[in-house]
Amino acid sequence: MTDSYCVFGNPIGHSKSPLIHAAFARQTGEDLSYTTRLAPHDGFAASVGDFIAAGGRGANVTIPFKEEAFRLSNRLTPRAERAGAVNMLSFSDEGIVGDNTDGAGLVRDITVNLATPITGQRILLLGAGGAARGAIGPLLEEHPATLVIANRTAQKARALAEHFAGYGPISGGAYSALSGQVFDIVINATSASLGGELPPLPARLFAPGSLAYEMMYGRGDTPFLLFAREEGAARCADGLGMLVEQAAEAFYLWRGVRPDAAPVMALLRSA
Ligand code: NDP
Repeated sequence: MTDSYCVFGNPIGHSKSPLIHAAFARQTGEDLSYTTRLAPHDGFAASVGDFIAAGGRGANVTIPFKEEAFRLSNRLTPRAERAGAVNMLSFSDEGIVGDNTDGAGLVRDITVNLATPITGQRILLLGAGGAARGAIGPLLEEHPATLVIANRTAQKARALAEHFAGYGPISGGAYSALSGQVFDIVINATSASLGGELPPLPARLFAPGSLAYEMMYGRGDTPFLLFAREEGAARCADGLGMLVEQAAEAFYLWRGVRPDAAPVMALLRSA
């Protein structure tokens, strides 16, 4: 019998996950179906329950349900626990197991696809929302020299830095505190680009050879990427690789076989 998986979200029509997982299944010869499921804002838990009752094996979770999925899980992996959010569910005899593969996807995209080491580097993370929170643990596991979080609401960046203080050299604060500092990797985990805006970044942030990484994808040159290029960042990347790599990690955990993300990234870029 074909194993069924899905992604829950609201809205969900835009999701590229069915295309990605179908490509992974073809590539690996795994027999599975993967669909989108629109969950009502007040009906996420019921939608998950319906899917389990219908024989669903696992699911991804996207906006706005990642925190609710965290609360719904009967067991959490350590990285999901640290992130405070869940983007992947597995259904088994022990109930609902919640994991978070977003940060692992980001780290793999940077270190493998973009061949950029994080170890020993100075990292700046812009934003203190769900995406930033999911990224911090996996970034610190790579042992950067420093990880600085800057956020419009500075207190949220400070709180995140305190929360993760036991895991590595991390600090957090306002954009204004960045003047005079230089970074090897700058990751935009804000949603500013959605509104065509640029966080208030000072000049001369980018070290020679640095990487500018925009978590958002599918928007071409965002204000952040344009700024980075003008400011001398050596390389710019969007978050499409992160999207495909977080899916590859989920696929691997569900199926026990790791798909090759590169051809699927190429497929999405050409679409
Ligand atoms: P959240 O809503 O949780 O957080 C938004 C963050 O952006 C907050 O830190 C907020 O600051 C900041 N922000 C919003 N507008 C501005 C602005 N105009 N100037 C400065 N800062 C601003 O969103 P998420 O964390 O879930 O998502 C962030 C981005 O990451 C989105 O673009 C999303 O598409 C992308 N993403 C990509 C993924 C991928 O696989 N590639 C996966 C997950 C997310 P404040 O706290 O002050 O409000």
